[in-house]
Amino acid sequence: MQKKITILLLCCTFGVTEGFSQMSAPRPPRRTTSTLLADNVSFSKQRHALDSAITKHINSSEDELPADDLYDTWGTTGVNAGRVEIAQVPDSIYFDCTGYIPPIEGQVTSRFGPRWKRYHYGIDIKLNIGDPVGAAFDGKVRITKYDRGGYGSYVVVRHNNGLETVYGHFSKILVEEGQTVRAGEIIGLGGNTGRSTGPHLHFETRFLGNPINPEKLFDFELGEAKLCRYFMVKSIAFDWSNQTKTKQKGKTANSNRLYHKVKSGQTLSHIAERYGTSVSKICQLNGFSRKKVLQPGQRIRYN
Ligand SMILES: [Zn+2]
Repeated sequence: MQKKITILLLCCTFGVTEGFSQMSAPRPPRRTTSTLLADNVSFSKQRHALDSAITKHINSSEDELPADDLYDTWGTTGVNAGRVEIAQVPDSIYFDCTGYIPPIEGQVTSRFGPRWKRYHYGIDIKLNIGDPVGAAFDGKVRITKYDRGGYGSYVVVRHNNGLETVYGHFSKILVEEGQTVRAGEIIGLGGNTGRSTGPHLHFETRFLGNPINPEKLFDFELGEAKLCRYFMVKSIAFDWSNQTKTKQKGKTANSNRLYHKVKSGQTLSHIAERYGTSVSKICQLNGFSRKKVLQPGQRIRYN
């Protein structure tokens, strides 16, 4: 069966087009940098370094930390710790989605995209409080935290394939930071904590800190990955960034400077994530350091 994928996903050359999660993953073929990148593009040094890291990652064997050749940091401060600017991500990105196990089976009740004046960087899956939620792939738990104004009790897992997954609104977290988990291993129980109006799982997939619509990768009705191995064009993977930029440009026309009023419990990472920017950019705009302690009611510039 040949699945028709409406988004531009380029299946790799070995012609595997289906998400056989039970299939053992053959080693990806060795690839050179030139097969990953569009020709005639000039790259900054930083970007070139990242290309090399990704090529090395594709060809690498087991790492002590998942994908540690791809990520500079193993931060536990927030979902966005160590995020790479989209401009620095190569035009084509690769990851292996064999071994995927759906975190939970249930109806998708809210999709990735603009929602209530903010951007929803994941999907919501209906569940009952206490339902077990599993890790989507093998990996290592990077963050377990409580975020009152957003994710509630949440877990971030970094996977061997370079993706990170985020699980929000748990009633109980069952893993610890640094713990190795297998695909399908229960990491928490479903709940309604944080910014949530009913029991559900908020589920995100990220690559180098940048969200990708999980429904581009996984079929939540069938409970399987849409493809085993992806070569994904950056402009498609992160198409949301154009929408948020357009929106921000529109706002900029009226007022060049945009501010956010800090609410209790919010951190720089929350604010950066909310507006699709980075902590370092916010620090630069406001002339303070990443260690700045935010006060509720304080206005900080984010654009
Ligand atoms: Zn959500």
